[in-house]
Amino acid sequence: MDFGDAPEEAEFRSRIRAWLTDNNPGLPASSTSDEYWAGQAGWHQSLYDAGFFGLSWPKEIGGHDLPSGYEVIVDDELASAGAPPRPSVGYLVQGIWHHGSADIRSRLLPGIVNGRDRWCQGFSEPEAGSDLASLRTSAVRDGDDYLITGHKIWTSYSDAADWALVLARTDPDVPKHHGISAFRVSMRQPGVAQKPLRMINGITREFGEVEFDGARAPAADMIGAPGEGWKLAMTVVSHEREPGELGYVARYRKLVKELTHQVRESPTGYGAEQRRDLAWAIVESEMLRQHVCRRLSDRMDGISHGPEGSVDKLLMTQVEQAVGHAAMSIGGAPHDDADDTWLKVYLYSRAQSVMGGTSQIQRNLIASRILGLPAS
Ligand SMILES: Cc1cc2nc3c(=O)[nH]c(=O)nc-3n(C[C@H](O)[C@H](O)[C@H](O)COP(=O)(O)OP(=O)(O)OC[C@H]3O[C@@H](n4cnc5c(N)ncnc54)[C@H](O)[C@@H]3O)c2cc1C
Repeated sequence: MDFGDAPEEAEFRSRIRAWLTDNNPGLPASSTSDEYWAGQAGWHQSLYDAGFFGLSWPKEIGGHDLPSGYEVIVDDELASAGAPPRPSVGYLVQGIWHHGSADIRSRLLPGIVNGRDRWCQGFSEPEAGSDLASLRTSAVRDGDDYLITGHKIWTSYSDAADWALVLARTDPDVPKHHGISAFRVSMRQPGVAQKPLRMINGITREFGEVEFDGARAPAADMIGAPGEGWKLAMTVVSHEREPGELGYVARYRKLVKELTHQVRESPTGYGAEQRRDLAWAIVESEMLRQHVCRRLSDRMDGISHGPEGSVDKLLMTQVEQAVGHAAMSIGGAPHDDADDTWLKVYLYSRAQSVMGGTSQIQRNLIASRILGLPAS
């Protein structure tokens, strides 16, 4: 693939570059401050309204039907401008698009794409994380509705969400993967209680646990057929493991750019080991950028990847942790009230090996689905 810009891509690039000079919200690095999460909805809406979000998605849901190379341009320019990354809602869009009826797609997706409807993902439960199919949240039919009862945990953005994509058991009498259905559930109704979970780096707005106690979901808001929720879940998690879908390359490049700036400002302030750590983080994030370009190029050629998403997830974890290591190496752990942003970046990087499926689970998937090794 030729990674150079075609004339229309070059025009798009200068348009977003010019727009960013006046519209960069200047938020702190993601996952280091509650202020970042408070500014997320506004950032999403402003990117969308300016025509720079949802570029490769269908026009009928608010996208632009452009080749996915345009998403790479957006990521490049966001990173260069030090702007926040693209909001990561691609896995919701992909899951609902692939499994929802025409009615579901047209009612649910435009609000997710334009950022006016805020969503969270209610999959994990206290006893069902890696073994997600053991989930116990139930959905019982009651007239035109289902009544949802259960406990979800590690629910990102639950405090700000208007809606949750919930997996719930509709049939307890069939093998566990076959009795699960997917619903859109309003977070703003009686029977839903949300409690923030404080993360190790002090963030309180990213994470929560959610109790559903007879919350109502219209049967018309079931996504896919009854008992087909597992298929949707697999689509969602496979896209959640794709750095290209998440826009994380821009996040890593923004961080290494800021670290590089800090080292340049004080040429004698950092030793060889710190410079080596930074150089490694730069190499890793550039390697991920190239890898994402390769995956998107495959996609444009009609090649879709299945279990290879697990390789991408491991790669992304390796990059995030190299960046986190460089942040700690250069920023250190501050005393008293000094700025602790880099410590927070380091602490958050540890979570990448857990969210979206742990590294051990990715290795199991690679062993069984790609290498064809027998289950132990
Ligand atoms: C930052 C962050 C954001 C998240 N956001 C969401 C969200 O929005 N929505 C949501 O639903 N969930 C979310 N999660 C939850 C995430 O999906 C789970 O934490 C993850 O799937 C692991 O589940 P668990 O925490 O229950 O760990 P467990 O499944 O209990 O695993 C504990 C340990 O055992 C290992 N292990 C388990 N089974 C095996 C096995 N078969 N072989 C080898 N090792 C194994 C795991 O690798 C892990 O090291 C988020 C998590 C994080 C950290």
